[in-house]
Amino acid sequence: MPNLPPPANATLAQILTWAEFELAALHLQSPRLDAEVLLVHSLGLNRAGLYARLHTVLSPSQIAVFQQLLHRRLQHEPVQYITGVQEFWSLEFTLTPAVLIPRPETELVVETVLRLLSQIPNPKSQIRVLDVGTGSGCIAIALATELPTAEIWATDISAEALAVAEANAQRHQVHHRIRFLQGSVFAPLANRSQGFDVIVSNPPYIARDDLLTLQPEVRDWEPRHALDGGNDGLDFYRQLLNEAPEHLTPNGWLVLEIGHGQEVVLMPMIKGHREFADDFRVSDYEGRGRVIAARKR
Ligand code: GLN
Repeated sequence: MPNLPPPANATLAQILTWAEFELAALHLQSPRLDAEVLLVHSLGLNRAGLYARLHTVLSPSQIAVFQQLLHRRLQHEPVQYITGVQEFWSLEFTLTPAVLIPRPETELVVETVLRLLSQIPNPKSQIRVLDVGTGSGCIAIALATELPTAEIWATDISAEALAVAEANAQRHQVHHRIRFLQGSVFAPLANRSQGFDVIVSNPPYIARDDLLTLQPEVRDWEPRHALDGGNDGLDFYRQLLNEAPEHLTPNGWLVLEIGHGQEVVLMPMIKGHREFADDFRVSDYEGRGRVIAARKR
């Protein structure tokens, strides 16, 4: 609970200062930004509207609504679950705690896929892309908006997550071009595999023992099955590397987001794999390996 009651007859500026102080007392990373985002959300404003009204006095009921949101954030609930939205690839995604919050790093995965597909000069047939473990649908939907003629498939083990992904696909008017299938990794494709030009995934990749060391926002609020990569964090990579070739066209690419330092193990795994002929890695702006790609023979 907040330590101090909100000031009476507070203006927006005063309530922000108060909320920032409450959040900072818990050592949250961006107390001012969180306070602003929650206040904007609770008042149905945008940021510009907030700054235009900094000296307006809030009504008791407006304060009460804001206090409820602040209370949730003080329990370490991520801002994105409280507001129900997160931007990714300049698109707004609807979120629930059934799906992982899309991360900015994952845009590098989308970029890599687009770059690889742009290198196919005159595709003989319709391009097909599969997103494994689609969660909010962020990768599949970003790709669908960029590739108006591609056929996109997306799988997820969670029916609840797929409902969120489908709602997002509708919201961005690409639902007629994405086929959503429920099941683990490639299981839903049994007997209906199509030969994909690209298979992409941001799989769960946290080693099980490390789950407890994550910040509470992730550990206590994001879906465990979207994070847990087994004992060494690599279970899904092993499965993807072993099973993807069966679902890729010749020369098709497997594109994977990876966790910090995992390329050290994964690149040799790809190089030693007889079904893959070529590979590369992409670093993020901090120079850390973030995406790996392997081309089928
Ligand atoms: N594909 C989704 C994302 O990148 C979900 C990933 C996951 O749940 N591991 O956000």
